[in-house]
Parts: sequence; structure tokens; C-alpha cells
Amino acid sequence: MTDLLIGGRWTGAIDERTREIRCPADGSLVAVVDEGGGKDAAEAVAAARQAFDQGPWPRTPAGPRGDLLLRVADMVARDKDALARAESLDTGKRLAESRLDVDDAVACFRYYGRLVRTETGRVVDTGTAHAVSRVVHEPVGVCALITPWNCPLPQTSWKVAPALAAGNTFVLKPSELTPSTAIALMRLLVEAGLPDGVANLVLGPGPEAGAPLTDNPDVDMVSFTGGLRTGRRVMAAAAGTVKRTSLELSGKNPNVVFADADFDTAVDHALTAVFRHSGQVCSAGARLMVEGSVHDAFVEAVVHRARGIRLGGPFDERAQTGPLISAAHRARVEAYVAAGLAEGARLRCGGTCPDDPALADGYYFLPTVLDRCHSGMSVLADESFGPVLTVERFASEDEAVRLANDTVYGLAGAVWSGDEERARRVASRLRLGTVWINDYHPCLPQAEWGGFKQSGTGRELGPGGLAEYRETKHIWRNTRPRPRGWFA
Ligand code: NAP
Repeated sequence: MTDLLIGGRWTGAIDERTREIRCPADGSLVAVVDEGGGKDAAEAVAAARQAFDQGPWPRTPAGPRGDLLLRVADMVARDKDALARAESLDTGKRLAESRLDVDDAVACFRYYGRLVRTETGRVVDTGTAHAVSRVVHEPVGVCALITPWNCPLPQTSWKVAPALAAGNTFVLKPSELTPSTAIALMRLLVEAGLPDGVANLVLGPGPEAGAPLTDNPDVDMVSFTGGLRTGRRVMAAAAGTVKRTSLELSGKNPNVVFADADFDTAVDHALTAVFRHSGQVCSAGARLMVEGSVHDAFVEAVVHRARGIRLGGPFDERAQTGPLISAAHRARVEAYVAAGLAEGARLRCGGTCPDDPALADGYYFLPTVLDRCHSGMSVLADESFGPVLTVERFASEDEAVRLANDTVYGLAGAVWSGDEERARRVASRLRLGTVWINDYHPCLPQAEWGGFKQSGTGRELGPGGLAEYRETKHIWRNTRPRPRGWFA
């Protein structure tokens, strides 16, 4: 077995452990992969350190670095079918969605391949005739890139592309549940001609293979996407050596609907916002907030359509959404719903596993709507990361803003209104990294992505995504050096 990439060499795990990857849609065996741990992580960091300190990549000009990324983009596009299939088998996600995820990865590599040529340093006016001053960008160093299981290929690309564009070396640690497209992407980087040791891949469970990356003194930066609790642990571990940290964490995202919104369109998007990929999307619109005068009719329409959503595996073309990632995750979602009901929420639909025998081998959970939710309930405070929609009622613009901001999270959300001025006003008052007006979910490689408050510290995509992986250095050059004479 040779699934780890260390110093340009494909290798097995030092302790020779392996893991079975099973499709969450039906439990079928997808692959058996190497499972590394602390020793593998240490070797990978040493390889990345050597490649950074002595290898050519950090000193390669931006032009050829960008060219390599553009080659990778072409290769990802070339392998679209195989990558989408692998992503769907690991995650259980519908093939159509995985194909969009591959397009996202292509766009990301293209964007950074082009951007890095234009995002140059600058010359600064020193105010003296005998000095010139430049501000230049340099790579941060060795980056630990740690990713979750919900959208593995895009999330890996959002880190790998800007990290490489900036000239860093890295160790990637994907989720233990969904390693296939990470392995495939590393093979494409090698095929594209990336020097040995620049890209390193370690597989294995977070506490064993990920945690050792976060406190290793030879790692300069940790870029982490995952849950809030893990993010806090990562930040604390990185603090010991004051590493740069870029955190993309959980969300509990408000989808705010005013009475003057286009009713049918808002209902349609409320469903996609939360039930796409069975709610396993960090920006899922899991918190529906509806203005009082249309509340009952709106919720009724959402519940009616949620009951009709067809569940199925990745290759079932009739399926509209898929399974949860694991039995453990489904048990967490069930417990989350039970807690909401115990606190007084009302179950409008779902709340349990489907009874269709064809779905019995997968980790399916019915699209669920809980209404009568209010501040103080755990279902409003916590992220379920499953197909569960909570509903709140509001009476005024001020109340909508106050409730929407009454959370530790600040990742994304939407405002629906026919009044353009009001929509803009509310959008500017929401403490969220992304606000959609009369839409939900679109995301562009050119526009930054990241959370306010405890949804994270980092920015991915856009010029801000590249800035995360660069140091900025000021170089002052005295062209006529003379003694100062202060201590003569
Ligand atoms: P997670 O449990 O926090 O895991 C994320 C990654 O961290 C995995 O690779 C995991 O490894 C690893 N890990 C676990 N413990 C670690 C430790 N002590 N040190 C270092 N690494 C460790 O999150 P998840 O369940 O995979 O993903 C779902 C969460 O991600 C949700 O909360 C979602 O909102 C969030 N998310 C956020 C964004 C965003 O852009 N803000 C995007 C996507 C997802 P193993 O899984 O292999 O153990």
C-alpha cells in the first residue's frame, strides 16, 4: 500500500495500519488505504521543511508557479468523471453535486494560477534620495492543511492552490473518512511536475495524524477547516509556537425571509439552502426566520415540499439528496432533534430514519423541520450539520437582525425581500462573512469566503485567500551608506 506521499515518495504507513473506506450510501467497500499517525506526520513535516529551506519551489518566480497551477487545473478538468465518482463514493454525495465540486476545484486552481502573476509587491517612497524601499511577498513556510469530509476536493483545493501559488510547502491531512480525492489530487501535482517534498500527504485520524502537525515547531502555519470544537483545539496547540492560523469553522446560518419576498422562490431556496447534501454544508441555511404575517403559510409550504424529497445513493438519478457521512454522525443528528423536541420545538416532518428497505444499509435521515423554536434552545445555539431546519418567527426588521446575530457563529446567511433598500440595510447589519440577497449558496473563486465571530479567523478564495499564505516583507536599501556618528 502506498497512499502517503512524503518527500516525493509514495509510501505506506510506518505502523502498517490500514483503514477501509465505505460508501455511506450503502456500506459498500470503496477502498482500503494506509492509516498514518504521529511518526508519519513527523516525517512529512521534515520533508516539507527540507523542501522549503533547500528546495527550488519557494524561490521559483510567480510566473512558473502560476503555470503549474494552470496545468493542474487542466488535469483536474481532464479527470473530472473519475474524481467526481471517487468523491461521491467516499461522501455518498449525489454525482451531479460532485461534478459541480470538481468544477469548483478547477476554477480555484485557474484563479490562483492567474492571480499570483498580478499580485506583486510594491515600491515605497522613502522620502530620501539615498534609499530605496520595496515591499515584497514571501511564502509563510511549511503549512499544515487539515480538511473535513463534507466537500473534500473543493476544500482541499481552496488550501492547496493558494498555498502553492504563494510558494509554500505543505503537509495535507484530509478527513480519515474521505481520503480518495486528496490522494488523486496529490498524484496530479506530481504529474504536473511539482518538486519533491513540496506536497506531502498524511492520512489518519485527526488526534493521531492531524494533532502532531499543529504543535510541530517546524510547521509555520496551520490552515484548518472543520468544527468549532476541533478549531479551538487546533488554535490552542498552534499557540505554543505562535503559528499563523487560518480557521474555517462551523456555522448556524440564518435564512431571513420578509413578507414582501417572492414567496415561491424563497420557499424553493429555503429547501436547497438546508437539504442540499443532507445539510452537511458549512453554510447550510439551517435556521429559517420568517416574518409573522407570512410565517404559517411559508412554513406549511416548506414542510409540504420537504416531505416529498427523494433520498438515494450517489448514482440514483432520481435522488434529490443523499445520506449522512456515518452512523456516528446520524446518531448526533438524532440526538440534536431529540434535544430540540425536549425543549419544546414542534416536529413538522422527518425526525427519524426512512423506513424504505432500499435505504436500510445507508446512513439516511429524513428531511426534518422543527418550528416554534426560540432563543435559548440548544437547536438554535448548535450546528446539527444534518438535514434539520429550525424555524423562528419575527415581527420587525430590528428583531430579525437581533435574532440572526444572537449566535456565536457568523459564517453565512441570506435575506429575502422585495424591498431592495431593506435587503441591503439588513445585509449590512448581519455579522456574517457572506450574505446572499434573494439567493442562497453561490460562491465565487474571486470573492473571499470565511467567518465572522467563532466561525473562523481565516479567508479562503479571492485575493484574501492568497494573502493568508504570504508574509509581507519590507526591504530598505541604503544606496549611500555613511557612519551615523551617534556614539563617536
Ligand atoms: P472536524 O471533526 O473538526 O474535523 C476536521 C478535520 O480535523 C479532519 O481532518 C479531522 O480528522 C481533523 N482533526 C480532528 N481532531 C483534530 C485535532 N485534535 N488536531 C488536528 N486535526 C484534527 O470536522 P468534520 O466533522 O470533519 O467537518 C464538519 C465541520 O466542518 C462542520 O462543523 C462544518 O461547519 C465545518 N466546515 C466549515 C467550513 C467553512 O468553510 N467554514 C467548510 C466545511 C466544513 P478526522 O476526521 O480524520 O478525525
